[in-house]
Amino acid sequence: MAQGSTEARAAIIAACREMNRSGLNQGTSGNISVREGAGMLITPSAMAYDRMRPEDIVWMGFDGTTEGDRKPSSEWRFHLDILRAKPGTGAVVHAHPTACTTLAILEKDIPPLHYMVAAAGGRDIRCAPYATFGTAELSEHAVTALQDRAACLLAHHGLIACGATLDKAMWLAVEVEALAKQYLGCLPFGEPPLLSPEEIDRVLDKMKGYGHQG
Ligand code: 13P
Ligand code: ZN
Repeated sequence: MAQGSTEARAAIIAACREMNRSGLNQGTSGNISVREGAGMLITPSAMAYDRMRPEDIVWMGFDGTTEGDRKPSSEWRFHLDILRAKPGTGAVVHAHPTACTTLAILEKDIPPLHYMVAAAGGRDIRCAPYATFGTAELSEHAVTALQDRAACLLAHHGLIACGATLDKAMWLAVEVEALAKQYLGCLPFGEPPLLSPEEIDRVLDKMKGYGHQG
């Protein structure tokens, strides 16, 4: 088999199945990558997660070369570009969670309506402008929206969450979907009151070292 242990590949498949089981994602939407050597392990394109086997995971080098029999996710470009741009990131989770995607359809950033917005690393969670799936343009928008952030929405598309580990990226994806649900719950009453930038900065400081413990 190509680069990446069977265990590392199996962990990606388990995370894919978990995101569908929990309702974070539906069908074959979404994709996951994990940094591996001079590249990444990434889910194959359009393959049912319950049929996926460790050997179906593709290894792709930062130079774009691939190892494996399957076609890599159509979103390999943003996975590769994010891992290249963010040396501290070990895993990238992309999904189409219903609440995040609803906000993304409305082209809305998630403002600091709850202190957990800081879990993504800043004072808001940006919504990247729309571009066709799988394009270099979408990748550019995603990398820009993820500057100083570990998560962003993709307009008319879905969510990207990053983490030092796959567990941390999955944890953040669940937290951002919860925030999106909370924001959608507020919107019928108008735009909610927000926490001040100073308060979010205080939370950011307090959160250093806080997060999913594995
Ligand atoms: P893949 O099945 O090619 O990974 O695509 C799913 C997706 O979410 C595209 O944005
Ligand atoms: Zn997608």
